[in-house]
Amino acid sequence: MQFEHIPHPATTSDTDREAILANPGFGTHFTDHMVTIEYTDGQGWHDAKVEPRAPIMLDPAAAVLHYAQEIFEGLKAYRHEDGSIALFRPEENARRLNASADRLAMPHVPEELFVEAIRQLIAVDGKWVPGAEGSSLYLRPFMIATEAFLGVRPAKRYKFMVIAGPAGNYFKSGAPAVSIWISSYTRAAPGGTGAAKCGGNYAASLVPTREAFARGHDQVLFLDAVEHKWVEELGGMNLFFVFDDGRVITPPLTGTILPGITRASLIQLLREEGLNVSEEPYSIDQWRTDAQSGHLLETMACGTAAVVTPVGKVAGEDGEFTIGSGGPGQLTSKIREKLVGIQRGTIADTHGWVMPIG
Ligand SMILES: *Cc1c(COP(=O)(O)O)cnc(C)c1O
Repeated sequence: MQFEHIPHPATTSDTDREAILANPGFGTHFTDHMVTIEYTDGQGWHDAKVEPRAPIMLDPAAAVLHYAQEIFEGLKAYRHEDGSIALFRPEENARRLNASADRLAMPHVPEELFVEAIRQLIAVDGKWVPGAEGSSLYLRPFMIATEAFLGVRPAKRYKFMVIAGPAGNYFKSGAPAVSIWISSYTRAAPGGTGAAKCGGNYAASLVPTREAFARGHDQVLFLDAVEHKWVEELGGMNLFFVFDDGRVITPPLTGTILPGITRASLIQLLREEGLNVSEEPYSIDQWRTDAQSGHLLETMACGTAAVVTPVGKVAGEDGEFTIGSGGPGQLTSKIREKLVGIQRGTIADTHGWVMPIG
């Protein structure tokens, strides 16, 4: 597909951009351009554009505004030491977007088009990829239903977009151990949309997240909807439990957990480290017992935004417990360095996970 390029009348000055890149934060600054591609039933994808980033026009009856027919992805572009830019497993994000699209009755974006859209954006906004350690350009591909129709059925028109913004460390002070709050709310039920990366899941997580913050915690933990017993995931991160006998457990993908690409990568890297990783249910009671007995050495949370983050403290209505010393654990730090090294090109990529892009 040919992308039409609409020139930007006045991109951010080098001075302003460099000031932003020196302290990017997360999710507040954006690059100068965006990609938009339209979809019409019967016609498929058309009108691909790279254009100046600006508010978009939507009919007030657009389906996304009423029935939340929306899905998104999140991935990062990294600046390597030789100045080149690389993505980490972008085809996995493309596949997952399409899995989410299936659940939300939306059209597939061909994998090549997904990657090409990112390539086109980085071709014009490559200067926005920061070079400092721990920093990257966060890419946010997403799709919305744009058809103006208030009847309830899958829309006939969609817009796929890619926006991007520089990212520093997700948690303000690097990767200290985080404290999590066990929510009594439910994130995802069997048969629901828990495995799809859709805005609706996040809408439902905001009250529990606010509650966690109000109680002084960094993140919210969701248990399963049926027994309220099994550990599922955090608001936007998957979990791994590390034991003193070389076992590592992560909850299985049963449809209520988001299949993280960081999760899949960690399973592989941990196995290569000789650890015995299994995907099996783990209960909140067992977690407390194992933390208190000392069998559980570490718990790590993982996702693209925060990479790998140690969990230090877990609190709920019935009290709290600490994991290990409450600080970052050895394996968490080691595996984080390994993954970050592969992403940044300082450790050899033996898996074909890194895609040079500019
Ligand atoms: C995106 C996301 C994750 C992490 O997925 P990654 O591919 O590792 O970034 C975990 N949980 C939820 C709910 C998510 O939306």
